[in-house]
Amino acid sequence: ALTAGIVGLPNVGKSTLFNAITQAGAESANYPFCTIDPNVGIVEVPDIRLNKLTELVKPKKTVPTTFEFTDIAGIVKGASKGEGLGNKFLSHIRQVDAICHVVRCFADDNITHVSGKVDPISDIETINLELILADLESIDKRVDRVAKLAKQKDKDALAEHEVLVKVKDALEKEMPVRAIEFTDEELKVVKGLHLLTSKQVLYVANVGEDDVADPSSNEYVGQVKEYAEKDNAEVIVVCAKIESEIVELEGEEKEMFLEELGIKESGLDQLIRTAYHLLGLATYFTAGVQEVRAWTFRKGMKAPQCAGIIHSDFERGFIRAETVSYDDLLAGGSMGAAREAGKVRLEGKDYVVQDGDVIHFRFNV
Ligand code: GDP
Repeated sequence: ALTAGIVGLPNVGKSTLFNAITQAGAESANYPFCTIDPNVGIVEVPDIRLNKLTELVKPKKTVPTTFEFTDIAGIVKGASKGEGLGNKFLSHIRQVDAICHVVRCFADDNITHVSGKVDPISDIETINLELILADLESIDKRVDRVAKLAKQKDKDALAEHEVLVKVKDALEKEMPVRAIEFTDEELKVVKGLHLLTSKQVLYVANVGEDDVADPSSNEYVGQVKEYAEKDNAEVIVVCAKIESEIVELEGEEKEMFLEELGIKESGLDQLIRTAYHLLGLATYFTAGVQEVRAWTFRKGMKAPQCAGIIHSDFERGFIRAETVSYDDLLAGGSMGAAREAGKVRLEGKDYVVQDGDVIHFRFNV
């Protein structure tokens, strides 16, 4: 499964946020196929469409799709020099598919800040610098090898060498790889390098309780947003402390509490949704009387591959996908009505599944 790693300096609110994630977390009893790793938090992806489909179809059971966060602890400073837990920290980051970087934007004199004062940009740069240095090291190793081949007029090596030099120049200016513009050809080379700073980043600005309703009054949030723009990253605002209270609530109680706070959606729900999109994930549904269910797929996947997410037999014996978009189904009011309106399509093996498709797979066993 794809996972987003949670990183941040000490005392910024990582554990508070991660605890909220695991508490909100899907009961592992419901997901026996998921490994129970204390550093992994499995959450259900909130999706209003699933609720609407449930109202429409009235199934026996509704199953949301899930998403994983990994808590990446470890000493950050000096990581690229392999100090302390540093190497471990980097190897954990290497394994995640996107990075959620928690940044302290709350002032609280009772909570020590590792560098003495609240300064989100300096915090961000501390971690990013370690990642940049680690990437530079990987590039340097590779450049030497490729340079030799390039001298022998090896065409691929020449092309790769150019890309490596371009990446190296940017990294030396402390620019992460995700902020560099590449041609499609260059991008192929870059992907093969598996660099840490090429991963997508979401900055999670952790504000104090008083700033939740109107984060624009928090100057640190503004700084993080400005930074993220040139860093080609996204930003969401949460209050980890309040999130740990929200997860205790459900349904109406939760809605009332959010209203009191003056927010539409919990920070955790926003975090899940944003990380999900950052990873290029999307959702299709199956909707039968037994079960209405949301399934996660990667954007660009074709119908047979998507069928394979449910069961490998579905992919092997794929015949076609009876597909209706969520909007068409809802507008029709029932599967039958959507069919009569000609909105149910029979899609074949080359169909690229779209977010919100409601699908019934036909297959041979
Ligand atoms: P970590 O070291 O990054 O995992 O940070 P923790 O989650 O342990 O948080 C460090 C301290 O900051 C704890 O005492 C938390 O209660 C506190 N804290 C976390 N989030 C907030 C917040 O939004 N507001 C305030 N006032 N304190 C917070």
